[in-house]
Amino acid sequence: MTAKLINGKDLAASIRRQLAQRVQALVDRGHRPGLAVVLVGEDPASQVYVRNKIKACSDTGITSIEHRLPADTSQEALLELIARLNDDETVDGILVQLPVPDHINPERIIEAIDPLKDVDGFHPNNIGNLVIGREGFLPCTPYGVMKMIESTGYDLTGKHAVIVGRSNIVGKPQTLMLLAKNATVTVVHSRTRDLAAMTRQADVLVAAVGKAKLIGADMVKPGAMVLDVGINRDENGALCGDVDTEAVSRVAGWISPVPGGVGPMTIAMLLTNTVEAVERRLLK
Ligand code: NAD
Repeated sequence: MTAKLINGKDLAASIRRQLAQRVQALVDRGHRPGLAVVLVGEDPASQVYVRNKIKACSDTGITSIEHRLPADTSQEALLELIARLNDDETVDGILVQLPVPDHINPERIIEAIDPLKDVDGFHPNNIGNLVIGREGFLPCTPYGVMKMIESTGYDLTGKHAVIVGRSNIVGKPQTLMLLAKNATVTVVHSRTRDLAAMTRQADVLVAAVGKAKLIGADMVKPGAMVLDVGINRDENGALCGDVDTEAVSRVAGWISPVPGGVGPMTIAMLLTNTVEAVERRLLK
């Protein structure tokens, strides 16, 4: 068997095209959506992520307001900037690129963002809304994974979804989103005994670990749908996911590649949340 590809790059491009029309409709009503992007320090990976997010904004017609702060910026100064952005009517979404330097407490920063501008979906209010099934902002990466599954027409009802990884930004919110679509969900993690025995039961397998090619063909049920969230470097320095894509493609029914899978979808969902922030305020 050769797995069908879930092409996140193409899906993200189509979502961005649809968003550009929604942005134009808002501009016609007198408001161009604005996203404030805050980067503290010079982490090279963060710089790449921020650059990609800003480019995607401009392609979609969203104004991005970049705030680059030196690595020694105090927590107080960062909190003051967030307070100003919360009050700024031209700013619809606020994103503080993580990780922040060690002297800054990321939880304090996330909690300071107005939940109505929290387009990353990390604020406890938004996570709480997700837990109880109320409207809020969904964290972009697991939201993107849900859109990728949806794009295949796959019905999750009653299916067994296994998520590898339990982080606050991917694994845990992914669990809640899959539950909301009536999947039976198992979460496995670094302390799980016999990982392969668990992953082999998955109709849908989401890998969000950060370990290159951890998921091999012997860990995947024939015909399963495999979503690869990981961003790693392989032994040759090439970008790869948590899944051994080549081997698993021979077993799985569906597979998302890295690069060109979940990564571009994460950005598309960030833009979606930003446009929704405006629509909720102006149109509802
Ligand atoms: P994290 O380090 O916060 O969490 C990793 C999780 O994996 C933990 O819950 C841990 O228990 C589990 N884990 C670690 N080793 C394991 C093992 N051997 N077996 C089973 N579980 C194990 O990471 P994160 O922030 O959730 O990110 C995970 C990966 O996804 C990283 O590669 C990250 O770069 C990537 N990521 C990609 C995007 C994107 O846009 N594509 C977004 C966020 C994160």
